[in-house]
Amino acid sequence: MNFHRVVIKVGSALIAPEQSGCSGKHILPIARFIAECHVAGKEVILVSSGSVAAGRALIQHGSPNPSIPTKQAMAAVGQMKMMANWQRFFDVPCSQLLITHGDLKDRQRYINIKNTLRILLENGVIPIVNENDTVATEELKVGDNDNLAALVALVSEADCLLILSDVDGLYRENPKDNPLAEMLETVEKVTPDIYQMASGTTNYIATGGMQTKIQAAEKATENGIATYILNGEKPDVYTRLLSGENPGTLFKPQQAHVKAKKHWLKHTLKSNGEVHLDAGAIKAVCEKGASLLPSGIKAIAGTFNVGDTINLINSESGEVVAKGICQYSDRDLNKIKGVNSNEIDTILGYCPSKVIVHRDDMVMLT
Ligand code: GLU
Repeated sequence: MNFHRVVIKVGSALIAPEQSGCSGKHILPIARFIAECHVAGKEVILVSSGSVAAGRALIQHGSPNPSIPTKQAMAAVGQMKMMANWQRFFDVPCSQLLITHGDLKDRQRYINIKNTLRILLENGVIPIVNENDTVATEELKVGDNDNLAALVALVSEADCLLILSDVDGLYRENPKDNPLAEMLETVEKVTPDIYQMASGTTNYIATGGMQTKIQAAEKATENGIATYILNGEKPDVYTRLLSGENPGTLFKPQQAHVKAKKHWLKHTLKSNGEVHLDAGAIKAVCEKGASLLPSGIKAIAGTFNVGDTINLINSESGEVVAKGICQYSDRDLNKIKGVNSNEIDTILGYCPSKVIVHRDDMVMLT
């Protein structure tokens, strides 16, 4: 498979297939696939549903569709079971990230999530993300983990998204109603016709249906992320993927991933401030492909917060050489400009990042 960083979304039906607690049945082949991805030098982030399904039997309820607080309690107890179930299949450590849509909309939290994912991957730890069901209220809820997975793919800058559930792919009609319905191998672009092909889920354990999978595919492919809908109940899906086949429905990326990211940084994000760099920093950033360190910053202008975009300026020529997402506010940056990264902690009392603008969050303008 031609990807470097993949987000794998695993649906509740695969975590708790018998609808009564976690099972290893479908998790084992996924874990094997992840291990093979690691051997091939690829990075993997999991978005796992299933906490409600895993905790269902442990909280009293008298209805197939319990109240939101009851489901939140199920999620709280089930999350532990679900994480333990994942960890038993890996030799490498797993980590838990519980996030909400609100977290991803907030620039500071967005950058915190981005940094955490980056460091976990650098350390060979598997990030396992789920929605923070306890605090997710209606307006904060991503609503389903398909859309959450697309947002995680964006924040982690993945180039591939796999949505695993109990269906083979996208059919022209609901295959449960028409067994002869045709499955689409590829979708060039998500259009209203594509949405029309999808029908809601009939499985009350799962939250999203085909609609949310298409929404996720639309978000991801617009940003250059290839997206597959695959049947995680069929272990040969993984061997086929690894040998370069398409075992489900592939939604094609609308543009090259790197191009989409650069476009987003360059055109969509408005700069709130600027940093003026000395000759050494200009050389490091422009010629050596380095991140921006505090030592090369001579002056700062504008008011900005963590996660805002700033312009990087050559202090001699006045030229804007690059643009990027800043890890510090202008207030903090004023205190640490010109110093060595190792001194940040002593000066500010904390050091969320040794670099001011990470190379991955920067686009060159010259
Ligand atoms: N966060 C929910 C859970 O873990 C699931 C949401 C979804 O399946 O889309 O049970």
